[in-house]
Amino acid sequence: MEKIAVFPGSFDPVTLGHVSIINRAIKLFDKIIIGIGVNSEKKSMYSLEQRKVWLNDIFKSEPKIIVDSYSGLTVDYCRNRNANYILRGLRTAADFEFERGIGQVNSMLDNNIETVFLLTEAKYTPISSSIVRDVLRNGGDVSGMVPSEVLLIN
Ligand code: ADP
Repeated sequence: MEKIAVFPGSFDPVTLGHVSIINRAIKLFDKIIIGIGVNSEKKSMYSLEQRKVWLNDIFKSEPKIIVDSYSGLTVDYCRNRNANYILRGLRTAADFEFERGIGQVNSMLDNNIETVFLLTEAKYTPISSSIVRDVLRNGGDVSGMVPSEVLLIN
């Protein structure tokens, strides 16, 4: 059976932290589906189309990676895509507490789907999409935080 993981997130915008997690996880799975979660109540800074274009560009030479979007429960989306794993990154103790809750509830919803956590590379620990958005809104330089594809638009 193919090992398929969904990497869910907003990717608003994708950061070097996300890219690092995906590049390291490629060795663990046969396929990784980057699932951009669409939440009508959460206003994003970048359009879904733009976020997809960036992710497709970044991983264009990696056939094991697919970029997609979904709404609704992540476990339902995983079942639709035949994925048995949810991939998440862990930066800090605060991430752990947040992820623990989501991961344990996802197991209650479907205990065939395992959440797999990779620790962030130390240099990417302070990077989050929300910090990148704040820096961008205030005219700061995000070149150490996001891939070059994102810099081209900003
Ligand atoms: P969400 O909206 O679900 O928080 P994000 O797009 O912010 O989604 O993040 C998606 C995943 O990437 C999460 O598992 C998050 O912990 C992880 N992540 C975000 N930033 C980093 C980083 N700098 N290093 C490692 N993992 C990260």
